[in-house]
Amino acid sequence: MATGWNFHELYLWHETGNAAQFFQPSLTIEPGEHAENAATKRRFRNLMEVSGLTEKLLKVASVAVSEDDLALFHDRDYIRRIKTLSDERGGDASYLTPFGHGSYEIACLAAGGTAAVMDAVLSGDINNGYALVRPPGHHAERAQGLGFCLFGNVPVAILKNRAKHGFERVATVDWDVHHGNGTQSAFYADPSVLTISIHQDGLYPPDSGFHKERGEGRGEGYNINVPLPAGCGHGAYISVFERVVLPALTRYKPDLIVVPSGFDASAADPLGRMMLHSGSYREMTRLLMHAADDLCGGRLMMSHEGGYSASYVPYCGLAVMEQLSGIRTDIDDPFLPVFEGYAGQPLQPHQAAAIAKAEELVGGIG
Ligand SMILES: [Zn+2]
Repeated sequence: MATGWNFHELYLWHETGNAAQFFQPSLTIEPGEHAENAATKRRFRNLMEVSGLTEKLLKVASVAVSEDDLALFHDRDYIRRIKTLSDERGGDASYLTPFGHGSYEIACLAAGGTAAVMDAVLSGDINNGYALVRPPGHHAERAQGLGFCLFGNVPVAILKNRAKHGFERVATVDWDVHHGNGTQSAFYADPSVLTISIHQDGLYPPDSGFHKERGEGRGEGYNINVPLPAGCGHGAYISVFERVVLPALTRYKPDLIVVPSGFDASAADPLGRMMLHSGSYREMTRLLMHAADDLCGGRLMMSHEGGYSASYVPYCGLAVMEQLSGIRTDIDDPFLPVFEGYAGQPLQPHQAAAIAKAEELVGGIG
């Protein structure tokens, strides 16, 4: 069965303005391009085209979500504040989340693209799929945007599709290098969504993403954070999958697996301090596909989040798409032998100790 692919030109037109990485220009910081700009997404899309892979996938169209759809997760006053600012000249969604004119409509398309791929997977039109959306979503909370994210693409898509398809259990596996605080918050008291986040400890948001955040009420035990020390490579991440992610999925038995997919845990990323390479993303995808085949008829979808190396995001993304589709292109990742050769790629003892703490949380899943 086909692999789905969602992209829309307008995703690239979301404006984040000038910044030094993400700090606003000042008299000590020369204006440059904001870290969350269109280039990484455009170049991922372009490499997909050049490789010939795009034309072998099933194109899933973006259908903008409505205000009512957004309100399944977000506060109405917040939604309308963003809409009002977007109708004018843009603004900031609260902190580190600048946007321009028209970003409201683009963000509705991004959530809609995620929802459409999820719908296609649940409807059986595609086996698995990827939504290359922008702006990203996993930091956005109910009443505020955070960390370049306006609306929670994945939470909105899950809640919209749950209303339509009535599935019982979804698992999210967030491999973005930053904590998926927004997705966590959306389902913190909800045992019907297991949220797992693998991220660099204390990176962003600096005050969240700890083991002790396990969910609350009926949702207690259904949020698993895997904070990792900076410097983790391929071995540490594969160990996280073998010891935490896969056992948790096996225990939970989801109807669908969703990946908030950031490529900022790569060795080339300016905003993260991890060492993954395209082979790591390929292998993590393979492991999730295997779990999805065992547990939920192969139903797996991903929605794009972070990733700030314009040179390297495309190769990581292509590796994921090759694995999802089972189609190997003739494109080689020229960085792969370099990054694979970094000292410290195998699992280190202090990393194993951190992973062991997260492993203890798996038993909390009922
Ligand atoms: Zn990120």
